[in-house]
Amino acid sequence: MTTIKASCPSCGDVELTPQQVRLVVCSVKTWSYYAFVCTACHEEVRKPAGRDVVALLISGGVVAEPWNVPAEALEEHDGAALNYDDVLDFALWLEQADMLAAAAATTSARPRTSTPETAA
Ligand SMILES: [Zn+2]
Repeated sequence: MTTIKASCPSCGDVELTPQQVRLVVCSVKTWSYYAFVCTACHEEVRKPAGRDVVALLISGGVVAEPWNVPAEALEEHDGAALNYDDVLDFALWLEQADMLAAAAATTSARPRTSTPETAA
């Protein structure tokens, strides 16, 4: 059986079986990691797994779990974050909005009452 040597930050080197190692391979390569419960202190140890570590663990018999991050989670956003007033304004607007789809299709119908819009 394959023995995988890993390192616990508290206990030092530990030996694991492939079944004791969790390998998560993320669609964002830098987010991939492997984790295990230390056989000595029973704490979970989690470490980043670069491409070489992923290949090494898979070759040692560790089953890789795919982790696909949704594209919207990677979107960059600018501007201020929504606050409670924004949500309340939206909820109030929804109560009086009859044509929701039509309003969503136009940019002028946004429920931002506190921000004056400039006319082109
Ligand atoms: Zn330990």
